Amino acid sequence: MAKFIQAIRGMNDTLPDQTPLWQVAEQAIRETVAAYGYSEIRTPILESTDLFKRSIGEVTDIVEKEMYTFDDRNGDSLSLRPEGTACVVRAGNQHGLLYNQEQRLWYMGPMFRHERPQKGRYRQFNQFGVEVYGISDAHADAEVLLMSAHLWQKLGMSEHVRLEINTLGDNDERASYRDALIAYLEQHKDVLDEESSRRMYTNPLRVLDTKNPQVQAILGDAPKLSDYLGEDSKQHFSKLCELLSLAGIQYQVNERLVRGIDYYNRTVFEWVTDSLGAQGTVLAGGRYDGLVEQLGGKSTPAVGFAMGIERLVLMLESLALVDNIPNMVDVYVCALGDTAQQQAMLISEKLRQQHAGLRIMKNNGGGNFKKQMKKADQSGANVVLIFGEDEISNQQVTVKYLREDKPQSTISMVELSSLLQEL
Ligand code: ATP
Ligand code: MG
Repeated sequence: MAKFIQAIRGMNDTLPDQTPLWQVAEQAIRETVAAYGYSEIRTPILESTDLFKRSIGEVTDIVEKEMYTFDDRNGDSLSLRPEGTACVVRAGNQHGLLYNQEQRLWYMGPMFRHERPQKGRYRQFNQFGVEVYGISDAHADAEVLLMSAHLWQKLGMSEHVRLEINTLGDNDERASYRDALIAYLEQHKDVLDEESSRRMYTNPLRVLDTKNPQVQAILGDAPKLSDYLGEDSKQHFSKLCELLSLAGIQYQVNERLVRGIDYYNRTVFEWVTDSLGAQGTVLAGGRYDGLVEQLGGKSTPAVGFAMGIERLVLMLESLALVDNIPNMVDVYVCALGDTAQQQAMLISEKLRQQHAGLRIMKNNGGGNFKKQMKKADQSGANVVLIFGEDEISNQQVTVKYLREDKPQSTISMVELSSLLQEL
């Protein structure tokens, strides 16, 4: 026998018993963005490698070691998108959506990163994200956070997630902090592990993010970013904090929160959970006022977030937050004999047109009554319509209930129509 070809490691199939849960999540997302008047944008899965190098940053985990990069047949370097923001900015610049305009956008789709696969971490995964352009006011930052809180509430997850926020200041503020931090880290070189030593000069803020307890210990006395913030940055952050409090959204300021992507300035945030083990960040984002210009557009303020849909679905599953996943079928149509099978096909089509929203599955393999009833039961349907030779010649149908204690009856097609109307 030929050997099975397996899916690529870290790239998952979502099977029919899981897709209903995904649909619940996706539906909640669509309703949420609609409630705030956001428009959908879709961009290609492949982009020029340069796009991600210039936006995410050359010295980040994503660009250094996680991208799926290859030369296409023309010798151009392409990468599977590891995230959505750079792609949305690229599209916005290319189609003139950003300059001097406000845009409130959202997207959903697969992203690709060559990471070590584990629970909540995959090589192909899906993100839902929003991006707001043209508004520097902290009201925009607050809105995307309110929107994420709205989504948690819709899905019944509010008590299982908490919000951490921080401000990174503007570029020049961060640059002077960076110098101070490097000077401090240089005094503690002996304690730094290999990764922190490497990052000390290339991306010193990332050292704040270390998981190494020894390095964490020396960070207690490190210079604080908050001491390097200018008045405008401070005011922007306190306005955001005020708006969140006003809206009743609890948050924690985490001064070590820096994010792994270079383009952020001012606000950064993460929604974290304890219910997923190590992969605790469900949604993350922040402000990125410099990126549009950095990618060739005119200076445009921007703020957004991305959420991992796999992590959301894992939470819904592990917390058993979604019950009553609906059946796919309401009505199953059985037909005994060739003529009845043909007629049942035509009748089923008619019923689908007459009863929008009703889910009708027709038996297609034939077989005896018992075999067809078994399939009817497996379909999950409650109502079975049975067409035999008698029913067809009398223009009638026999109706049987599988999950309700109601008697079987043979009725006219007109009666059937009103019966289905009631379902
Ligand atoms: P992490 O710290 O978990 O690696 P990240 O900082 O790399 O996350 P972002 O690039 O900000 O994450 O992406 C936003 C969200 O996308 C994450 O919070 C997470 O929910 C999801 N995500 C990121 N990488 C993966 C992955 N490899 N598999 C599944 N979901 C992911
Ligand atoms: Mg990561």
